Order: sequence, then C-alpha cells, then structure tokens
Amino acid sequence: MVEPRGKKYSGNWIDVYYEPRTCIHAAECVRGLPNVFIKNERPWIKPERASADELAPVIERCPTGALHYVRRDGGAQEVPTSVDVVTINAGGPLYVRGDIRLELPDGSLVRQDTRMALCRCGHSQNKPFCDNSHLAANFER
Ligand code: SF4
Repeated sequence: MVEPRGKKYSGNWIDVYYEPRTCIHAAECVRGLPNVFIKNERPWIKPERASADELAPVIERCPTGALHYVRRDGGAQEVPTSVDVVTINAGGPLYVRGDIRLELPDGSLVRQDTRMALCRCGHSQNKPFCDNSHLAANFER
C-alpha cells in the first residue's frame, strides 16, 4: 500500500488523503462524487457523505495521485495495475499508472506511487510532476 500523503479527511470507515501539490484539477473526483468533492466549500472533501465502496473507485480515478485512501472497514486497499501504463495526455502531462518507483539517476527515490502525472512541456515548477504550466505555455504536442 502507498504511504498516504497530505491532509487527512476522515469518513465512514475510510480516510481520504489529499496532497494539493500534485493536484492539477483534472476534476475526476468532482465528476465522480460531486456531493463529496466540492471545490468552493471548506472542507472541500466531505467523505462522510459516501460509503467506502463508493469513494474508493472514484479516488482511484485521480490521475495524479493527489488523492489516496485508507479503508478502515476491512475492504481492499488500492492495488497497482497489473501492468504499468503510460498515457500521453495531448497538450498535457504523461499519466503513469502501476507499481511506480520514480528515481533520480543516482538511484534516490523521488516517489513511490500507483498514479502520477509527469511534466511533458518542460515548464512545470514542480518537476518532475505536472503543475498545469502546459496551459499557460500553450503546449500543444
Ligand atoms: S481527481 Fe485528483 S488531480 Fe483531479 S481534481 Fe481531484 S484530486 Fe485533483
């Protein structure tokens, strides 16, 4: 299981973790459970409004790894995809899924995760992660 990062939001038998540094507002969470993920409210995540079974699959859709969960109901924790998958998001980042260990050339660990969005335009201020700078840079490839 990935070590959870960021702020914890406790719900009914599930804790949701959110790390804003890697969120690029792809809004999969908002689309998946609009009653739970509400951008303009504080707290913006209201996990008590959904069950662990409802929350887990929506959180796993988050392409950047900004959202994670820890189930406390005995349900299955997130499992990495069986094969690693890299997807080019046109005009945006590389989305990576799997059992990912991101290292520097000297072998030191940058991050271990099941989901990441990596900068492809070269303008991110949060490299190697995407920070949406491709939008201002009008990156089109
Ligand atoms: S799905 Fe992930 S990256 Fe997208 S808005 Fe939600 S937390 Fe941010």
